[in-house]
Parts: sequence; structure tokens; C-alpha cells
Amino acid sequence: MVDQNFMSHLFEGVYVVDKSRKIVFWNEGSENITGYRADEVVNRFCYHNILQHVDQDGNELCFNGCPLHHTLETKAVNHGHVFLKHKEGYRVPVSVKTIPMLDDHGDVVGAIEVFTDERFQRNIIKENESLKDELMKDALTQIANRRYFEYSLVQAIEQHKLFNKSFGILLFDIDHFKHVNDTYGHLVGDEILKIVAKSLSSSTKKSDIISRWGGEEFIGLFEVDTTKDLKSIAERLRNLVNNSTYTTKDNVTISVTISIGGALFKENIKDKFLIDQADQALYQSKQNGRNQTTIAS
Ligand code: GH3
Ligand code: MG
Ligand code: MG
Repeated sequence: MVDQNFMSHLFEGVYVVDKSRKIVFWNEGSENITGYRADEVVNRFCYHNILQHVDQDGNELCFNGCPLHHTLETKAVNHGHVFLKHKEGYRVPVSVKTIPMLDDHGDVVGAIEVFTDERFQRNIIKENESLKDELMKDALTQIANRRYFEYSLVQAIEQHKLFNKSFGILLFDIDHFKHVNDTYGHLVGDEILKIVAKSLSSSTKKSDIISRWGGEEFIGLFEVDTTKDLKSIAERLRNLVNNSTYTTKDNVTISVTISIGGALFKENIKDKFLIDQADQALYQSKQNGRNQTTIAS
């Protein structure tokens, strides 16, 4: 049901520094773009200038104009276009976004830098901002797509490492959807997918994320502390979908049910493993008769 290699689709580099600008997290995207493995940069200070950011005129930015430094100083989110130095020595154009991380008192405890390889980006999105949004959106349902979810999951794991913020994920799969398509046609099936997407996405908190995972499957990320809380969200959403209907031109009213599998993020587990757990829980819900929720223990 789930693509095991989803992380390979994630092309953004993400790294996190603490207040002293020491690199504490470095993702696979960063490794791909820069050529540096995590163990070569984690625990080093970004002002050791491993990546030697320069602007387009070749000015060194590390102590003068570094977007990350500016974010730590001012708490402002920064955007910019810089060139970094690949481990092999060549310059890579990247677009950079730096985001402050604040504690409960609003004090800066670190910052996240998200960077995208513009050689790649230029080719596929031609620096068109609206198109960039489209890359994160599912064309049919207009909710977030799989890419966005994968990106958000990486962010949530970072937040967990730094602030111990708990979260869980839920996988949703429409029951007997093939039968719906076979009975009413693919176009009606598409309309029902839109209804389910709307029901799921419009009834969650702003900090929660609902994405289309693929086909008739959706996935969500929720800020919760316990499996009990995760389950109660799942049950609320399951009932909401249950109570949603679509009426065809011929005045036939159709409703569908969903099966749900969930898992709470636990220390030191990989994103893939978390999704696997939710997938297995979903399988259990299907086995037990569908239209129900299972949360991995
Ligand atoms: P189960 O309860 O076991 O999940 O049964 P199912 O029929 O939903 O399961 P299965 O995964 O075998 O089939 C999923 C169906 O979803 C098959 C495919 O035709 C349909 N589907 C996937 N994507 C779309 C889509 O974008 N539009 C429409 N209309 N149907 C889709
Ligand atoms: Mg399915
Ligand atoms: Mg299904």
C-alpha cells in the first residue's frame, strides 16, 4: 500500500542549528545537494563555514549577510538566493529559507534552514512561485500532496528532537472504492475523493496536515501526546466521512466509509518505520471488517 522509498522524492535540504549556530540536524536532502554526510557536519558550527555561502557577486556571507545568522538575531523568517560550495568544490545555486525556532517564552533556541537546489528547481519550476505551490498540491482534491506530507514529516521529527513535541500520523483508505468506481464510474469516484478530502481537511486544526497519499488513500499528521488522543481524532474523522454524501446528477446519494491506521511517533524511529506502523495498523482495520480505526501499540 505504501511506497517504501518515499524519502528519495524529497529534494529539499533541511538543517537545524542551535543558538550558537552549531549544526544539530542534517537531512538526506542536504547530503544530496552538498555532498557532505551528516557525520561530517553535525556538531560543527556553521560559521566554520563548511559550505562557504557567497552571494551572486562572490561576497562571503558567513559573517556578513548570512540569512541564518540574521534569523537568529532578529527572529525574522528570511528568504534568499545564495551559492554554496559543494564538497567537490563547485558552486551550487540554492534558494534558502531560514526559520527561527522559539521556546515557550518566545526566545530563540535555534533556526531551521531549508534549501533547494536551484539547478533542479529552475528546470522544473522556472522560478514560478505559483507553480511552486502547485508542486505541493494535489491536482484533483486541491489538498496537500504526498511531497508536502513528506516534507512536513521531516519538519515534525526535527521539532520533536529539539522540543520534544509529540505527534502522530493517520493513514486513511476508502473502503471498497473499486466497487464505487465499478458501479458509478470513475468520474463519480473522483467527485467522492474530493468530498472525502474536504471532510478530512476542513475539520482539523491549523497545525494538523492532511494530504493525499495516492489513489484513494490520505495521510495526516497531528500534534498529539497519546495514542488515545490520536484515536479520538481518527474516530471523529471516520464518523465525519461516514456522514458525508455525494449526490449524482441522477439524484443518487452515495456515501463511503474509511478504514484508518495510526501510529504515534516515538524517540529514535525513522519516518519510514512510522509510516510502516500506520500501514500495518490500517491493514488490521481492513482485516477486522473495515470502517474502523487501529492505532499501533
Ligand atoms: P479496500 O476496502 O480493501 O481498500 O478496497 P478498495 O477497492 O478500496 O481497494 P483497492 O486498493 O484494491 O482499490 C482502490 C481503488 O481506488 C482502485 C482504483 O480504481 C481506485 N482509485 C485510485 N485512485 C483513483 C482516482 O484518482 N480516481 C478514482 N475514481 N478512483 C481511484
Ligand atoms: Mg487503497
Ligand atoms: Mg481502498
